[in-house]
Amino acid sequence: MTTTGTQAMASDSGARPYVTVNPYTGETVREFPFLDSGRIPDVVGRAATAFQSWRERPVADRARMVRRAGDLMLERKDALAALLTQEVGKRIGESAWEVGLAASILQYYGDRGPEFLRPEPLPVDTGEAQIVDAPLGVLLGVEPWNFPLYQVVRFAGPNLVVGNTILLKHAEICPQSALAIEQLFADAGTPAGVYTNVFLRIPDVTQVIEHPAVQGASLTGSERAGMSVGEIAGRNLKKCVLELGGSDPFIVLDSANMDKTVATAAFGRLANTGQSCVAAKRFIVMADLYDEFVCRLARTFATLRPGDPADPATTLGPLSSERAAIDLIGQVRDAADKGATVVTGGGRPEHKGAFVDATVLTGVQPGMRAYSEELFGPVAAVYRVASDDEAVELANVTNFGLGGTVLCSDLQRARSVAGRIDSGMVWINQATSTQADLPFGGVKRSGFGRELSRLGMYGFTNRKLVRTFPPVTA
Ligand code: NAP
Repeated sequence: MTTTGTQAMASDSGARPYVTVNPYTGETVREFPFLDSGRIPDVVGRAATAFQSWRERPVADRARMVRRAGDLMLERKDALAALLTQEVGKRIGESAWEVGLAASILQYYGDRGPEFLRPEPLPVDTGEAQIVDAPLGVLLGVEPWNFPLYQVVRFAGPNLVVGNTILLKHAEICPQSALAIEQLFADAGTPAGVYTNVFLRIPDVTQVIEHPAVQGASLTGSERAGMSVGEIAGRNLKKCVLELGGSDPFIVLDSANMDKTVATAAFGRLANTGQSCVAAKRFIVMADLYDEFVCRLARTFATLRPGDPADPATTLGPLSSERAAIDLIGQVRDAADKGATVVTGGGRPEHKGAFVDATVLTGVQPGMRAYSEELFGPVAAVYRVASDDEAVELANVTNFGLGGTVLCSDLQRARSVAGRIDSGMVWINQATSTQADLPFGGVKRSGFGRELSRLGMYGFTNRKLVRTFPPVTA
């Protein structure tokens, strides 16, 4: 791969650079300097110039390049998967899965995007009325490390088809993934300035959003970061999409097969070593199933062994960083100190790397951090309830509202409970997940706006009304 513009634009003036630290070995692999604050107007200016010609290209051209980027991603699957594993400690099989998912998104919007952008007729008495989607301009994306490819492409793919141009600030712990994506779009034929990786310092996010050419910002990450970007965007009257954290309920109303129920629950909690916004984090289980569920879930968690995430046989990967492991274990100890029961796990394995035991907690109560905060790792809190009403009440007790799962053999009952959960997505009889053609996003403190699907496609378009009357006659 050749080096694209951004590295050349970066300066060496930053105090703490973007850096890959392998969370398994602790080794510092590569460092990249921050983009110099003084160069930001130039970088935004290039994206603004690129927008003027990008928006004028036929949508089919833009879509073809996005599709090509998806194809290239698959061609580079092994290298990209190895990179994800090195940068964030993702188990290699999950890294390969993420590459496939991210590629499918680029391919989907490359193939179907133009169709979503066709003018939409509105019923009127005389003449015609249409909604025509026009691009807005330069957008800033701020993305997290937990799915370094997927998070970026679900924002960038559809928006490039729309005709917007992108400045992308990735998480500081996955800079090589950030550059690999920029390279991918360049190799797919997008002109300079259409997609630009920016190794921004966080304080410089303000300068970018304030720039007159920037028309919107999208952030996926924590509440703290969401509040900051939302506030800057609001102050500058710029459009904003926020995809924030979650504490998703996983409600078990009945079970015809406890092995399968527990396998679904364990997958929902442990995929990506629990570092997913839509991971099942609070297990809400009917009283008649509770004891067996807890016992079997704990048994499943106890079989996991820490190991090298690059080894396909490893069952428990490290967290993304030592800091993440310390934060999570702090939440577990707080719960245990305040009276929660640690059914299994509860500590850190005696193993090099940013590992935390796969942990099952019961007796989590208000006043414990684990009750109100997001648990971003392999830690499950299990709650006992006696009715559907109680399950819904507990599901909605959180300030978050991202996803949720309901397991039940009676689909009418499942849909009724799903309908009462205050979240952006509920999956019935499967752990909450994502796919290219379905909307993704939350309510409450999980953010606002949607990515993916037709809904996501319109996040940063001008849904313009064009009202046409017959011409004046002589
Ligand atoms: P984070 O600290 O908020 O980081 C996410 C991104 O925001 C990074 O690029 C980070 O940059 C940047 N950032 C941090 N503080 C900022 C600020 N004040 N202003 C502007 N940008 C800022 O998030 P995290 O803890 O690493 O990521 C995990 C969180 O993301 C979890 O809460 C998870 O649930 C959430 N998440 C949500 C979704 C969703 O779709 N709803 C998907 C995935 C993850 P640096 O890396 O340089 O700090």
